Amino acid sequence: MKILLANDDGYRAPGLRHLKEALTGVAPLSVVAPDRNRSGASHSLTLDLPLRVQRVDENTWYVINGTPTDCVHLAITGLFEDEFDMVVAGVNDGANLGDDVLYSGTVAAAIEGRFLGLPTVAVSLVPERGPARHFATGARVARELVERLLAEPLHQSMILNVNVPDLPYEEIRGFQATRLGYRHRAEAVVKSSDPRGRPIYWVGAAGPGQDAGPGTDFHAVANGYVSVTPLQVDLTRHGAIDGLRDWLAGPRP
Ligand code: MN
Repeated sequence: MKILLANDDGYRAPGLRHLKEALTGVAPLSVVAPDRNRSGASHSLTLDLPLRVQRVDENTWYVINGTPTDCVHLAITGLFEDEFDMVVAGVNDGANLGDDVLYSGTVAAAIEGRFLGLPTVAVSLVPERGPARHFATGARVARELVERLLAEPLHQSMILNVNVPDLPYEEIRGFQATRLGYRHRAEAVVKSSDPRGRPIYWVGAAGPGQDAGPGTDFHAVANGYVSVTPLQVDLTRHGAIDGLRDWLAGPRP
């Protein structure tokens, strides 16, 4: 039983260190993380540059000049001699709720581990505003879920997207199984100019929750619960296939 840890905030991020600390003793661990913050990298792979691996300490911390997906991909396809049984990604500084999962490097790192024998877990802390603070809470929640998975495995190749309120552990009200909600449209891009007067742009903040009622990940976290959403990779809209078939069989213009 071996667990691979990864993140998208980069190898120096406090969330990753807390995660490593919390899982020490649960199983042998290896950490493979990007050399800098790659939040928002989604499931990108680096195909136009060679990847270099730096070993930061004896045999547990590895740093790669690539994306979160690169890290997990390398780790499970040849960087190590042993196979891993589980990937745990995080603890991310910031929410991965609703549509966030499409942009998230943290969730992508977990998804990249889907071919392993056990479910993979992405853990994110959700602060009300600003940077997250209670990484120890997120890491402890991660440990509880991993221990539970080891004691009673879920269906393999399931991806658990976990969002934890940014609170002291004692203030967490429990766990809820949820579905992804979705957000309002993102705020407008922020336009500014560089010192030479040329326009530059910053991607604006994510929108607030729109589909955020009971049962959603947004609702659980807003009410002080850890949200656990089972994800699948199949993006097919199965219910639309029949209608689409009829549409395609119709008259051509
Ligand atoms: Mn991140």
